[in-house]
Amino acid sequence: MEILSAHDVSFTYPESSTTALKKINVNIQKGDFVVLIGASGSGKSTLLRLIKQDIAPHGKKHGSFCFQGKQLEEHAPLTMAKEIGMVFQDPENQIAMDNVMEELLFGLENLGYSTVEMRKKVAEMVHFFGINHLLNQKVSELSGGQKQLINLASVLLLEPTVLLLDEPTAQLDPIAAKEFLYTLQRLNDEFGITIVIVEHRLEDLFAIANRVIMLEKGRILYDTAPRKIIYEL
Ligand code: ADP
Ligand code: ADP
Repeated sequence: MEILSAHDVSFTYPESSTTALKKINVNIQKGDFVVLIGASGSGKSTLLRLIKQDIAPHGKKHGSFCFQGKQLEEHAPLTMAKEIGMVFQDPENQIAMDNVMEELLFGLENLGYSTVEMRKKVAEMVHFFGINHLLNQKVSELSGGQKQLINLASVLLLEPTVLLLDEPTAQLDPIAAKEFLYTLQRLNDEFGITIVIVEHRLEDLFAIANRVIMLEKGRILYDTAPRKIIYEL
């Protein structure tokens, strides 16, 4: 089932007159695990941020994105904020609260859950992540890997169907990075969460992902299965 699609999407940043995306077409199916690759400046971040509707609003956009068959702009903003989660490179910029427990409750507080429901959701999430021991810690006391896991957990508590990640392991050591990517694999396998990730750790990811989309200068160069790329290399 198609969950997210781009139809002839082009985007130009007015500040630099850079056309970052040029007539992009892509169909993402529910349960896909997509790795987005390409040289620096090829348009990867721009594509994710357009889907998340988190980009220079004065930028010049052509074409459209659809989520579950309806244009992004036709969905209620709160619905899209919940349905499409995004994790950035630096958890420090995304985490809002000082304590882990507060951080995990933070996103849920505006969604009308009772305290009992919120605590139950948080308990289930920390159990899934195996991070019960971090609940009473201060965020500032955590390692980079732990911060990024907390960040991911707080995004997931909103129960997104699609998760976008822009170089989430760039600041993590290799072991923490592997643990983070393994967690994504479990989310994809066990809950069918659709994942689109910009990542450089291709060795780890090619074993997990079912699609690789390569951008070059704002265009899709290929969209294929990882094993085909490995075969061609
Ligand atoms: P990638 O994520 O693949 O490195 P980006 O999407 O960040 O690529 O950038 C694509 C192009 O758009 C680049 O040429 C970059 O310089 C330009 N660009 C990105 N962000 C901005 C911005 N905020 N203002 C102006 N130009 C930008
Ligand atoms: P990425 O890790 O996605 O490649 P960059 O290092 O290209 O990120 O960009 C970092 C930040 O600078 C982003 O917020 C991006 O929007 C902004 N940026 C990138 N290129 C330009 C540009 N040509 N003009 C203005 N801002 C830019």
